[in-house]
Amino acid sequence: MITFYYIISLLLGISLGSFLNALVWRTRENIKIGKDRSMCPHCRRRLTWYENIPILSFIFLRGRARKCGKRISRQYPIVELVMGVLFLFVFYFHARGELVFTPEIVRDWFIVFNLSFIFLYDFKYQEILDFSTIPSIIILVLFSPAIGWHSWQSIGLAMLIGGGFFLAQYILSRGKWIGGGDIRLGFLMGVILGWPNIVLGLFLAYIIGAVISLIMVSVKRQDFKGETPFGTYLVLGTFVAMFWGERIVGWYLSLLN
Ligand SMILES: [Zn+2]
Repeated sequence: MITFYYIISLLLGISLGSFLNALVWRTRENIKIGKDRSMCPHCRRRLTWYENIPILSFIFLRGRARKCGKRISRQYPIVELVMGVLFLFVFYFHARGELVFTPEIVRDWFIVFNLSFIFLYDFKYQEILDFSTIPSIIILVLFSPAIGWHSWQSIGLAMLIGGGFFLAQYILSRGKWIGGGDIRLGFLMGVILGWPNIVLGLFLAYIIGAVISLIMVSVKRQDFKGETPFGTYLVLGTFVAMFWGERIVGWYLSLLN
């Protein structure tokens, strides 16, 4: 029976990955969600149901749009697959033998979807939109007692640190190093991670950023100028700290003893 829940989690993730692709593109192009059916990003012709099956359609159409023959970005199947795996992982992480989708699972699915949107949008367009951070901050704070979240004090302090960290840089550099979107993302990181995990999340973002930059330089990617948007590293740091924060801190403290 547990297999059934794993399959549901995977399929839900893949479907929401498909929705995420559409959401990112429609947000950029200013097309309302729910207005018109799914369409080809090139010629905007409507897709038939069999052109719109996550992952499978891409394989079946051999990566080309059926009508206009233009290449379909590999982003589409990759995002769908990654989201499927992430949703599966969240279920696996929280499943404790009980065969239900607990509030913790739904909460983390919500957070993972939200972070994926920020990652993808920042990666593609170097922008962190307010609508991807502010509503989530409000929702997570309001529902925090119901979803087994951090205490108010923990959230408050972590928001102060996450937001303050970027606000300070924003003021110091007069807006040159850091954009307003990073400050809002800092607040969101605080809500997601709480105290003291927020410190780890920020630290990990810089480590991950440095490691990826080194790899890119060492494989001599000519087009790499260190311009990978910082928001993507913040998302990765948040993700790692969210699921493995306690273990990492415990491991680090054990080294000191
Ligand atoms: Zn087309």
